[in-house]
Amino acid sequence: MGDVTRRTALGAAAAGVAAAAVSGDKPALLGGVPVRSDKFPSWPVIRDNDERAWMKVLKSGRWNRMGGTEVRRFEETWARMLGAKHCLAVANGTSALITALNTLEVGPGDEVIVPPYTFVATINAVLLQNALPVFVDTDPDTFQIDARKIEASITERTRCILPVHVGGAPADLDRILAVGAKHKIPVLEDACQAHLAEWRHKKVSTLGAMGCFSFQASKNLNSGEGGALMTSSDELYEVASSFHNNGRGKNGGSFSYVRNGANLRLTEFQGTLLLEQLERVEAQSKMREENAAYLTSMLREIPGITPAKLHDGCTRNALHLYMFRYEAAQFGGLPRAKFLKAMAAEGIPCSGGYTPLNKEPLVRTVTASRGFRRVFSERELRQYHERNSCPVNDRLCEEAVWLTQTMLLGGKRDMEQIAEAARKVQKHSALLMA
Ligand SMILES: *Cc1c(COP(=O)(O)O)cnc(C)c1O
Repeated sequence: MGDVTRRTALGAAAAGVAAAAVSGDKPALLGGVPVRSDKFPSWPVIRDNDERAWMKVLKSGRWNRMGGTEVRRFEETWARMLGAKHCLAVANGTSALITALNTLEVGPGDEVIVPPYTFVATINAVLLQNALPVFVDTDPDTFQIDARKIEASITERTRCILPVHVGGAPADLDRILAVGAKHKIPVLEDACQAHLAEWRHKKVSTLGAMGCFSFQASKNLNSGEGGALMTSSDELYEVASSFHNNGRGKNGGSFSYVRNGANLRLTEFQGTLLLEQLERVEAQSKMREENAAYLTSMLREIPGITPAKLHDGCTRNALHLYMFRYEAAQFGGLPRAKFLKAMAAEGIPCSGGYTPLNKEPLVRTVTASRGFRRVFSERELRQYHERNSCPVNDRLCEEAVWLTQTMLLGGKRDMEQIAEAARKVQKHSALLMA
C-alpha cells in the first residue's frame, strides 16, 4: 500500500469513528443511537414437543388429573429432579403457599416470619389464614431476608418461618434452619422464583419442612399458571394432598371427606406442558448462570453498580432476576427513575423492582378487618405495626435495579451491551440530569 493510499484509508477510518462517536455516543434518551436495537429472547419458549403433548391431552379428553397421567408424571419427575420425596402439583404458587400454611396448621392468631422484599403472594397467603406476617429486614448485600435478625422476631405466637429465595438465589438456609430447629418452628421455603437453585448442593424447597414453587407465566418453569409443593414428610404430603382436593381422603373417593379443603388441582394440560418444558430447564438454567457470571464481571467494574452477592452456601443460583444496587451519587446524582429510563432508551429494559411490602396499605387494611380484630387485641395490633419497620429494606427498594431472566438467555454480546449501556449512561449523567 502506497503512502497516499494509506493516509486516505486511515483518514476515512478516523472519520468513521468520529461519526459513530457523535451519533452513537449521545444518550439515546436525548436522541442518540441506542446501544441495542434487537429484542431480548422472548418467553415462553415453544417447540413442537409442547404442541404435540398439548394436542395429545386435548384429544384424549382426559383433562382433569383424576383419570389422567400427566400431572402425576410431572410430580414424579420434578420430585426426582429435586431430590424430594413428594411433590404435589397445585393450581399456582399462591395455592402452594396456602396449602402449605394450612397443612402446617398456621391459623388465626399465629405469626409467620416473612421478608418484606418479595412478591405480595407470600404475605397474602399468611393474611388469608388470619395470621400476621412479621417482617424481618433485608440483607442489602444479598437482597435476601437477614437471617441474623430472625430470632429477635420470634414470639410465642410464631408458627412458621417463611423465607423467600428472592430472584432465585437462596436465602441463608444454614441460619434459618438452625433458628427453626432451635425453636421447633417449621421452615416453609417460598421457592417460587428458585427452580433448580441449590444450597450446599441440595435443591432449595427440599431443605425446609415444605417448599413451594410457581409455574406462572414469568417464572423459569412455566405452564401459564401452576405450582407445586415439595416435602419429605409422608404425613404432611397426605394432608396437603387432601387439602388441595376438597379435603378428600387418601383414596380420593368422590364423596368422602376427612378435612376441609379447596379445589387447587392442576390440569392435565398444564401437567403435560411442564413435562415438556422440563426438557429445556436445565440447559436454560446453565445459560443464565454463564451469562450472569459474565455480566457480573463487567458490571462490578462500574462504580455505583453493585450486583447482589450470594451467600456462601449457595451452590446454584436460579437467576429468576438479575439484581443490582444503583448508587445515584456515582452517576452524578442521576435519580434511579431516570437511570431506568435512560437504560430503556438504550434498548436495555430494566425495572426498579419491589416496593416495601411492610408499608403496603393492604397490611393495615387487612389487619384492621373484623376477623383480625376478633383474634388480636387492639394493643397487639398496635405493637405489631410498631415492630414492622424495615429501614434497610426501605433503602434497598430505592436502589434496586432488576433485569429479567429472559435477558440472560441470549449470547455474550447481549451481556456486553447491558454493561455498555450502563457505562454510557454514567458517562453522560450530567447531560441526562440537565
Ligand atoms: C410468583 C410468586 C408467587 C406466587 O405464585 P403464583 O403462581 O403467581 O400464584 C409467590 N411467591 C413468590 C416469591 C413469587 O415470585
